[in-house]
Amino acid sequence: MQMPASKAPLAIRMHANDNVAIIANDSGLPAGTVLPDGLVLRDKVPQGHKVALHDVAQGQPVLRYNVPVGFAKQDIAAGSWVHERLLDIPAARALHNLPMATVKPSASEALAGYTFDGYVNADGSVGTRNLLAITTTVQCVAGVVSVAVERIRQELLPKYPNVDGVVGLEHTYGCGVAIDAPGAEIPIRTLRNISLNPNFGGEVMVVSLGCEKLQPDRLLPAGSFPIQDARQPEAALDLVCLQHDTHVGFMSMIDDIVARAKPHLERLNARRRQTVPASALVVGVQCGGSDAFSGVTANPAVGYMADLLVRAGATIMFSENTEVRDAVEQLTSRAATPEVAQQIIDELGWYDQYLDRGRADRTANTTPGNKAGGLSNIAEKAMGSIIKSGSAAIGSVLSPGNKLKADQKGLVFAATPASDFICGTLQLAAGMNLHVFTTGRGTPYGLAECPVVKVATRTDLASRWHDLMDMNAGRIADGEITIEQAGWELFHLLLEVASGRKTWAEKWKLHNALVLFNPAPIT
Ligand code: CA
Repeated sequence: MQMPASKAPLAIRMHANDNVAIIANDSGLPAGTVLPDGLVLRDKVPQGHKVALHDVAQGQPVLRYNVPVGFAKQDIAAGSWVHERLLDIPAARALHNLPMATVKPSASEALAGYTFDGYVNADGSVGTRNLLAITTTVQCVAGVVSVAVERIRQELLPKYPNVDGVVGLEHTYGCGVAIDAPGAEIPIRTLRNISLNPNFGGEVMVVSLGCEKLQPDRLLPAGSFPIQDARQPEAALDLVCLQHDTHVGFMSMIDDIVARAKPHLERLNARRRQTVPASALVVGVQCGGSDAFSGVTANPAVGYMADLLVRAGATIMFSENTEVRDAVEQLTSRAATPEVAQQIIDELGWYDQYLDRGRADRTANTTPGNKAGGLSNIAEKAMGSIIKSGSAAIGSVLSPGNKLKADQKGLVFAATPASDFICGTLQLAAGMNLHVFTTGRGTPYGLAECPVVKVATRTDLASRWHDLMDMNAGRIADGEITIEQAGWELFHLLLEVASGRKTWAEKWKLHNALVLFNPAPIT
């Protein structure tokens, strides 16, 4: 990678075999600009877009990351702007005859001595925040729950200073759905497992309507939720049912929810942060609003951080099916065992069929903003996205909505859609206690349930959105820091945020709604 001074023409090539490079300068570069290696631009090339480093004949591959991200529709002369209209997208790699666990990443030294201050739960998991969550069985109760949450916030939270907040787990599921159809188990187990997220301290309280399809005992069958009082091993689910006869008038419902919250708040308030090893981190990574710099700056920094987390014994999840589909060979070859490689194929195959049922495919992924930011198609986007997973062996695979087991440490492929909200929701269900989110175009994304550390791919975005972005990985393209330095910086930032330092999204209370992944029909 070339790293000249900031204002000089700067083109970044990711691999020595690449026949294109990315223009890094803030406003792009005009035609006639001479690049450091002497190449003269034939066209104006916008920031983040590709320039042909050599002549590319019609039908020949355009290589970025040493991988074809497209095939030239016509002859492309050296110095030309290579945009998506000049490229045919490569066909999706078939899901058979793939390399299975063929790459053995060299064993890296364990990282010891890194800690954070978190809330240790009875099951051994660790929260980075101390939140009361109110689970809901159905969307019908959402309005009532949000009034109750506001009253708890105003009247009760000042009395419980060690509790960080109260969150209503609202969603659009629960009724009007084909609840026994194949795939319906995904939203149900997602909601169940989110209720058990480490940031909620094992406290589970539920508000239901009464007549909905998703009955409380189906959402949380006996034995699936923590027993809160050891003296009452048969403790029933703590449930407020709005249609119950005892509720006379709206305020009786609110009073009931607020009263039920008190014992939970008392137990949460008695908790204190304790120093725990970094291995207790469960980090979910994803990207949103990506540009061509995502795969040059922020995502490689996240990948380096992912390797550090694996070395520290932590759990790190990467996701986003449609953004890894074009890199499936890299995933199956990096799987720790052939069985794990097969699970990757099974998840991506299931997702291919899911898209096919909707008469779509992986190419539905890229957005107008992705393309304006220089990403020609999903093949190019995928190569930049998968770098977030670092270089460790993929130790296990998680199906959507499932919860990680205690021994599922290291690098995990959590198979989820790429949708920011659905990916975040499914990673919460997996047990995520910290979220890392990279963005190039910019998004104010945040979650109420878990801190979200946002990493900007470009200095321009980080400067304009100075109070929304937690870290500027654009300094890598500016030549100020290396990918390794950025990875370490992010690793240390994660330990601080896990210990209670607020992210920008937390300061501004920017919370996106939970969005359950429901592949089953609506009635
Ligand atoms: Ca995403």
